[in-house]
Amino acid sequence: MKVFLSGGSGFIAAHVLDILLEQGHTVITSVRSEDKASKIRAAHPKVPESQLSFRIVEDIAQEGAFDEAIKASEGLEGVIHTASPFHFNVTDTKKDLIDPAVIGTTGILKAIKKYAPGVKRVVITSSFASIYDATKGNTWDHTYSEKDWNPVTEAEALENPSNGYRASKTFAEKAAWEFLEKEKPNFTIATVCPPLVFGPVVHYLNDLKAINTSNARIRDAIEGKWTEGIPETGVYIWTDVRDLALAHVRALERPEAANKRFFVTAGYFSNRVLANIIRKNYPKLADKLPGDSVQGGDYPEGGQASVYKTDNSRTREVLGIEFRSLESSIVDLVKSLLEVGLKG
Ligand code: NDP
Repeated sequence: MKVFLSGGSGFIAAHVLDILLEQGHTVITSVRSEDKASKIRAAHPKVPESQLSFRIVEDIAQEGAFDEAIKASEGLEGVIHTASPFHFNVTDTKKDLIDPAVIGTTGILKAIKKYAPGVKRVVITSSFASIYDATKGNTWDHTYSEKDWNPVTEAEALENPSNGYRASKTFAEKAAWEFLEKEKPNFTIATVCPPLVFGPVVHYLNDLKAINTSNARIRDAIEGKWTEGIPETGVYIWTDVRDLALAHVRALERPEAANKRFFVTAGYFSNRVLANIIRKNYPKLADKLPGDSVQGGDYPEGGQASVYKTDNSRTREVLGIEFRSLESSIVDLVKSLLEVGLKG
């Protein structure tokens, strides 16, 4: 299949790209600069140019940003849209988070409808942020599934960067479903909703200072930043990037994934559990990690059993995903961070 992958320089997209290439798909991926394109190209020396090519899309928040890139990609059959800001360094929540998420999503859908009539399926990376209801708290006795929607309002979105990010994902996913209903395009869509994503980073795009947001806490832990106190865990559920990447590719390929949301969650974690996994598997890092007497990073009072429940049965049944263990994900992530650190 000929596939357009937006945001090929991202943490998750790098794994999606590798699975697509391994499975023999032809990939055109958008990045923001020639420099990023050449790094990705150099990391795939055995992949012929005919199988992997690049389009530059500098800012997905601009109306029509994807038009030229899609128009110049003849014969597309599928699209995976991952590009969207995931960070909290914002000065203007609407401009920095919400616009790129919403305009990026509607913009790529409009461009596909107009210029890529052969596309049959569009997979969009959404998030648990579009499912989770922050007003109910972490100990709400509820089982989250694809049926749930974050009720965040436009006013609440602007209250702080965390609300802004969650709202950006909610509004973008809602805009995609509305597009489908109103525009009745020739393609179907599937949205993929992961919670916090861990797993190996690819060395060619990273340095430890600019690691992606979900892996930053592990970088902080192994750099000794948790020895005086473990930060609050925040979200208590996670998934591995390789399982998530496979979920994207299967959501693209499988007819039965048409017009479905997928909650791609592997299980629970707390920051204290993460520190313990690292200590057990990397004894040489022990003096950088918090000891048992250091406060913080626990599950809410009542332990893991007090946290909301989750239902990932649709992802397992329709996409056939079997989830990796937390320990294997964190071990591989730390290994990749140590390699990136050595490179720097
Ligand atoms: P990254 O920050 O590694 O990737 C984000 C990607 O989006 C990068 O390619 C980035 O380009 C691109 N991007 C961001 N803003 C713009 C813009 N204005 N114009 C063009 N490109 C832009 O994060 P992840 O890989 O973790 O995130 C990928 C997707 O997964 C996002 O949609 C995110 O919301 C979602 N997600 C991530 C989770 C996680 O825990 N990691 C959890 C749930 C959802 P560049 O690198 O050049 O800045």
